[in-house]
Amino acid sequence: MALTGIYPGSFDPLTNGHLDIIARAAAILDRLVVVVGVHHGKKPLFSAEERVAMLEEQIAPIAAATGAEITVQTFANLTVDAARSVDATVIIRGLRDSGDFDYEMKLAGMNGEMAPDVETVFLTASPNVRHIAGTLVRQIAAMGGNTAPFVPASVSMALEKKRQ
Ligand code: ADP
Repeated sequence: MALTGIYPGSFDPLTNGHLDIIARAAAILDRLVVVVGVHHGKKPLFSAEERVAMLEEQIAPIAAATGAEITVQTFANLTVDAARSVDATVIIRGLRDSGDFDYEMKLAGMNGEMAPDVETVFLTASPNVRHIAGTLVRQIAAMGGNTAPFVPASVSMALEKKRQ
């Protein structure tokens, strides 16, 4: 049976850290569904459609390099329900530091209780992208800084446009 995983997140915006996790998850899975959460209380900087488009633009070369099938979709409900809706048995999350760890342990524990058949698998951030956080990227962009080191070129341009 094909091993399917979901990678849920807000991706507001997509960063090089997210792309690193996507590439590494695709290397160990047969199918990866990137799930863009649209249920956050706070209004996102980029619409769900914009975030999906950012991801779709980047996944083709990763799919070609790894042989995995990678798709993107939005989801407004529970992560475990998103997993079940695409027959995924794995939830992929990235771990950068102890802040992520504390939060992710709770998330994985509660998801595990709601859906014991779905396993959360953590990939530790690669050293070259470990410092990248979407929140900081948004702040840098808002203050007119250069986001090019942290995000794909098209995302950096989209951030620039949002500011104008
Ligand atoms: P969420 O709001 O669900 O935390 P994010 O888009 O911020 O959504 O992050 C989605 C996932 O990607 C989380 O597991 C997060 O820890 C991980 N992640 C974010 N940035 C990085 C990075 N630079 N390196 C590795 N993992 C990351």
